[in-house]
Amino acid sequence: MDLARIEELLNLEPPSDVRYREILRRARRAEGLDPEDAAMLLLGASDSRRDAALFSAAREVKRALYGKRIVLFAPLYISNLCSNKCLYCAFRRDNDSLERRKLGLEEIRGETRALISMGHKRVLLEAGEDLAAAPMDYVLDAIEAIYDTHVGRNGIRRINVNVAATSVDNYERLRAAGIGTYQLFQETYHRPTYEAVHIEGPKSDYDYHLGAMDRAVTAGIDDYGIGVLFGLYDYRYETLALLAHAEYMRETHGIGPHTISVPRLQSAPGTEFEAPHPLSDDELKKVVAVLRLAAPYTGLILSTRESAQMRDELVNLGISQMSAASMTEIGGYGKGEKHSGQFDTHDHRSLDECVRDIVSREGIPSFCTGCYRKHRTGSRFMEMVEAGEIRDLCLPNAILTLAEYVEDYGSDDTRRAFERRVPEWLGEIPDERVRAATTSALAEIESGVRDVYL
Ligand code: SAM
Ligand code: SF4
Repeated sequence: MDLARIEELLNLEPPSDVRYREILRRARRAEGLDPEDAAMLLLGASDSRRDAALFSAAREVKRALYGKRIVLFAPLYISNLCSNKCLYCAFRRDNDSLERRKLGLEEIRGETRALISMGHKRVLLEAGEDLAAAPMDYVLDAIEAIYDTHVGRNGIRRINVNVAATSVDNYERLRAAGIGTYQLFQETYHRPTYEAVHIEGPKSDYDYHLGAMDRAVTAGIDDYGIGVLFGLYDYRYETLALLAHAEYMRETHGIGPHTISVPRLQSAPGTEFEAPHPLSDDELKKVVAVLRLAAPYTGLILSTRESAQMRDELVNLGISQMSAASMTEIGGYGKGEKHSGQFDTHDHRSLDECVRDIVSREGIPSFCTGCYRKHRTGSRFMEMVEAGEIRDLCLPNAILTLAEYVEDYGSDDTRRAFERRVPEWLGEIPDERVRAATTSALAEIESGVRDVYL
């Protein structure tokens, strides 16, 4: 990965209006952008006309590739024991103000039941890094316990995992356990900054952390997610580095990232750390729009670190997956634990409120896990997104999984909002046979059948 090139790109002259417009014209084709074009979009001084054009191009590309669907999930924190000292994180080992907790398997089942009972179908398993107290065996047991837990006929259908960088052997074990996406954030690609904020523990090794995705893919994990913690270093550098990482992985392994996450640094309990390069709301919007245009095939994930209002805006600019009703506490769902969280969140809507708000803003919340279960993963998935084919599956699957949610967990208001929109959504399914299949699957769901997808 050529990070030196990024410095060069950032020293280029900002684009003229003509060049900026020309780049956006090409970006609208949804074929991606080369690093220099992406740098130009980031370097262009923010003015309202340019921003409006950038945002409208990102909106168009998102709609063209993914349609209106927005996939919902929740994080499930199983342990805050950690041997690292990441200065920004409440889980770092010298934070004495935190209650340290590691969930037992029965407690993990309890958390899972609480999530299923809200209506969730996808979780992102999260843990601090403690090789002695919470080794890979523990993570694998947790995965099995989550998949095994059901409430009535419902269960968690896809577990994505965000645990510390590890060996090829351990990644093979994670793959064999049936995980969806393996996620790991580089936090910052800027080595001096990385070394200044990760000061002790295994995570302080920049190269080992950066090589995690090479090892994961070598182990056969073909859906992987990358990200940075915005606020640690210059956002333009980090955005270009994410794209460079994606390009490197694509060239080296033939598989680009399934997702890119855009977390912004938040205050954290017992933590004085302040973002050295705080990212404004407008800058975050720009990051999302540029990533959507430069890597159109990639899912973009946003968490409840952001406020409801910010999330509503970012969905329009290219976010395709969102966590909802999240807790970062260990035992936060079932037991309402309050003193073991990783950082402060700002969207406190319930899952039902999120669902209803998305529907009222013309989006379609989706609980779909179809691609992963039909082996549309890795490069196969990427090719289908690029060919516009995923959009045509996402729409019916979003409608069907949302229908299940509404039947089993939706409030009356959410049900009414859903029913008002369904005819319009069905009308947007381009293929007549798919439309007919979706309509009859909706009737099956109403009569009690579950887990129906294309
Ligand atoms: N412990 C593993 C690791 O650090 O890679 C697993 C993920 S950790 C539980 C999840 C993520 O939370 C980290 O990668 C980091 O980006 C993010 N995080 C930590 N402290 C944060 C803060 N104060 N604000 C926002 N995100 C934070
Ligand atoms: Fe531990 Fe991850 Fe927090 Fe670092 S970011 S202290 S590794 S939980």
